[in-house]
Amino acid sequence: MSGTSSTNSNTPPNDEGRVEDEKIIDGKAFAAGLRGRVKSRVDTFRTRTGCAPGLAVVLVGENPASEVYVRNKARQTREAGMESFEHRLPDTTSEKDLLALVDRLNRDPSVDGILVQLPLPDQIRADAVIATIDPAKDVDGFHTTNAGLLAIGGDGLVPCTPLGCAMLLEDRLGDLSGKHALVLGRSNIVGKPMAQLLLQKNCTVTIAHSRTRDLAGQCKQAEILVAATGRPRMVPGEWIRPGATVIDVGINRIVDESGKNRLVGDVDFESARSVAAGITPVPGGVGPMTIACLLHNTLLAACRRRGVEIPEGSAD
Ligand code: NDP
Repeated sequence: MSGTSSTNSNTPPNDEGRVEDEKIIDGKAFAAGLRGRVKSRVDTFRTRTGCAPGLAVVLVGENPASEVYVRNKARQTREAGMESFEHRLPDTTSEKDLLALVDRLNRDPSVDGILVQLPLPDQIRADAVIATIDPAKDVDGFHTTNAGLLAIGGDGLVPCTPLGCAMLLEDRLGDLSGKHALVLGRSNIVGKPMAQLLLQKNCTVTIAHSRTRDLAGQCKQAEILVAATGRPRMVPGEWIRPGATVIDVGINRIVDESGKNRLVGDVDFESARSVAAGITPVPGGVGPMTIACLLHNTLLAACRRRGVEIPEGSAD
């Protein structure tokens, strides 16, 4: 697989001026392909049903990062041929009012997926909101019903970021059976569902967190390392097993040595790249996969709710 990276100083540019590096796992390119496949299946869905899958995104308050995410989600939803319903509520919205909106969206037949952008203002409990979303429309996969289905290997909706990581891993490595995977981080959004997915794919899974002893030694054993800690560059190259595949979920905004703002992952990319067989860059790795998987989940939810079967890889 090829990718572009301005940080790759060891590999010469090719004829088109791009830098080729077989080690880079190009999430941006994979996500573009996935969005294209979703779009052609959405076209089939529209032909068969006469309507488009619909995604409702709810944003409460004016968090600038959330604004950007919501705008991107809405744009990519429309580009995939789906309906995008945006609901922007003021910072002062009460929990009761937000729950009433979620309830309306649950009952709205044109809405197949509901996403409430986190974080929420302090007066609103995220848990209460997630619990109110109809699990069949819970395209973020955060509802306890979907978390439970993932744990027992059932057919629920899987959280988008770990789903995207698993797709990248299978694309790079093929069958994951028997591989030793370490997931660094145990959040409900990334770490735990990631570990469940890898277990489902027959990996031997270790979950590490802030209380893990000998983190370096644990990491060093892993053939697959997924880092999701939110700690900039905390995993150095020395912690990585030679030939391992590294998925860096972290998105951390830092001020670098030259005073510039930049995004870095939870892995020290330069030192890790020299040891790993494959690694996702930040940006351009896991990030683009999250929205692509949201579109995938929305189409899946629409097909299930409306009893339409459009197998992946097929379109008519
Ligand atoms: P959380 O803060 O919810 O969880 C972080 C996890 O990392 C916790 O389990 C914590 O352990 C563990 N951890 C923190 N510090 C250490 C340490 N020093 N050593 C070992 N373990 C540690 O974060 P999220 O899971 O929500 O997100 C993780 C990262 O992924 C963030 O950078 C976030 O921005 C990014 N992210 C990226 C997405 C994408 O689209 N690419 C989507 C979602 C998140 P403990 O439980 O013991 O506290």
